[in-house]
Amino acid sequence: MTTESAFAQLQPMPDDWQRALAVVAHPDDLEYGCAAAVAAWTDGGREVTYVLATRGEAGIDTLDPAKCGPLREQEQRASAAVVGVREVEFLGHRDGVIEYGPALRRDIAAAIRKYRPELVITLNHRDTWGTHAWNTPDHLAVGRATLDAAGDAGNRWIFPELTEQGLAPWDGVRWVAVAGSTTPTHAVDARPGLERSVRSLLEHRAYIEALTDEDPEHYCRSFLTANVTAAAERFGGVPAVPFEVFGR
Ligand SMILES: [Zn+2]
Repeated sequence: MTTESAFAQLQPMPDDWQRALAVVAHPDDLEYGCAAAVAAWTDGGREVTYVLATRGEAGIDTLDPAKCGPLREQEQRASAAVVGVREVEFLGHRDGVIEYGPALRRDIAAAIRKYRPELVITLNHRDTWGTHAWNTPDHLAVGRATLDAAGDAGNRWIFPELTEQGLAPWDGVRWVAVAGSTTPTHAVDARPGLERSVRSLLEHRAYIEALTDEDPEHYCRSFLTANVTAAAERFGGVPAVPFEVFGR
């Protein structure tokens, strides 16, 4: 990465699309990452669907996974509804040990064929969140598999069993946009969706209460506001949700 690209202005996100599919590892990944953008999109009449590889059952130290999974699934559905997302699907991979490979790519390719999005969203697939902040193996696996599955979904020969299940190839993905990237290229104005993104993250109440002693609403608002404010200097002073966009 050159100094120049690190400080270049972010481009507005493409907006000539109707359907987006967001694929991430855990409940809360989208709420920490880009829910303000999702709120703005659904306001504009676009359809956004969430696919979660796991139920986040290993996410709360004090709660047994058998109880945690259903609770976090419920919290995720509520947080999606706040930003206008009605469809939330869980792939049932095991939290913490998601394996990158053909099985994961196939599950994500199946979702892409089912929902036929033009835009696919995922979360940071790289080793770090920036200097000395290590990413998790689940985010790497799901982020990479999602970037790969955008191509797999359009190829009838890679997972022919999906066609037999009635999922015809879909080669219509035009962009994969990575939230939380250390090298963003594009951004969405965060202002219209910011308040709903706070309420959306706040729906993960059991998770947040276990994470911090801070007042949950104060915690959510300060975290999300700091993020979109940091991106403003590269988006004409407008608070923004940044994405790294890979065209196809
Ligand atoms: Zn996560």
